[in-house]
Amino acid sequence: MARKSTGRGKNGAARVVAYREQDADLQHLKARSVVVIGYGNQGRAQALNLRDSGVAVSIATLRDSSADRAAADGLQVIPVSGCARQGDILMFLIPDEVQKRVYQESIEKDLRKGHVLCFAHGYNYHFGLIKPPAEVDVILVAPRMIGAVVRKAYEKGTGVPAYVAVGQDGSGHAKEIMLATAKGIGCTRAGVIEMSFESETVLDLFVEQTILPIFTRTMLWAFDLLTKAGFDPGIVALELYGSGEMAEVFQATARDGFYEQLFRYHSRTAQYGELSRTDKILPSTVRAAMAKGLEYIRSGKFAKEWAKEEQRKFTRFNALLDEARRHPINQAEKAIGKLVDLGPSLQA
Ligand code: NDP
Repeated sequence: MARKSTGRGKNGAARVVAYREQDADLQHLKARSVVVIGYGNQGRAQALNLRDSGVAVSIATLRDSSADRAAADGLQVIPVSGCARQGDILMFLIPDEVQKRVYQESIEKDLRKGHVLCFAHGYNYHFGLIKPPAEVDVILVAPRMIGAVVRKAYEKGTGVPAYVAVGQDGSGHAKEIMLATAKGIGCTRAGVIEMSFESETVLDLFVEQTILPIFTRTMLWAFDLLTKAGFDPGIVALELYGSGEMAEVFQATARDGFYEQLFRYHSRTAQYGELSRTDKILPSTVRAAMAKGLEYIRSGKFAKEWAKEEQRKFTRFNALLDEARRHPINQAEKAIGKLVDLGPSLQA
């Protein structure tokens, strides 16, 4: 039985519905063949998990490096062009900015009733960049975790949660196929939450475009301020994130709770310092900027901006990447990394 949260929230948000193992039936996949397009972060993890769940999977790749990796893992590799003629469920696990071109060049012409397009992020479908014919099913199975952990959790017998959605139901069975796909990947072991393509897309972009930039900006301001105040740049990088302590705080936030980790693992001085300054450190204009960011995403203006950037051959995007690569924080962390062991992610 699906688990439902009780009633509607104060803001009128719909009830949250979650599904677990017993709500999903793998038979809906066993009667169909699955083609995973792309063999990267999510593609490899989801394909191997589906195969180990007893589902017939082949990999459609665009480039030789992916094909070699998939073949080395013992999977059948087919060209992307014409792959829709060989599979019923087509899983789009190539980068979002590549999906529209691949869909138009290699998939669209072969689509028929009975096909299922499965996305791991709603961007292209929600913003109308990919417009499948009405008789085709469109589903979303979006793990809330990087691919390596999707695979590792499956191998350990656990899973990671996912958002799931039905975009269109041409067959009348899209929901059962969506739940079966989530089960094959291992996500119903942890629980999957049903929502719309719009909600998944907007939430994902909101975090990328508000929370992460605020975090990045404040960390870089701190780096600039402290180094100008005479602290060694390497030690500043170590203190801000390099030791892995900050990563541990985030892990504990997810594991134990937002405030619970503060109560459990931090000194009373740290608790007082944080709680007494939370309301003072940022001006309320930051909240207003977050609201503006949300509206910009919801209105589709960001999708238009990103499409324009693509037309301009990513000139601004490449300049931003160059600027990030040239930032002195990169040298600072290399220097301190020669003296002490840094957090696991920086050592890798
Ligand atoms: P990746 O960037 O890992 O995709 C890699 C695959 O796409 C490889 O097969 C790669 O081929 C191929 N590829 C990459 N660039 C190109 C290109 N320009 N032209 C042709 N093929 C290309 O994708 P992700 O797994 O990160 O993302 C797939 C989907 O999953 C996206 O919709 C994403 O939003 C979603 N998602 C991703 C998550 C994540 O953890 N990264 C989490 C949840 C959802 P090769 O290796 O041969 O270069």
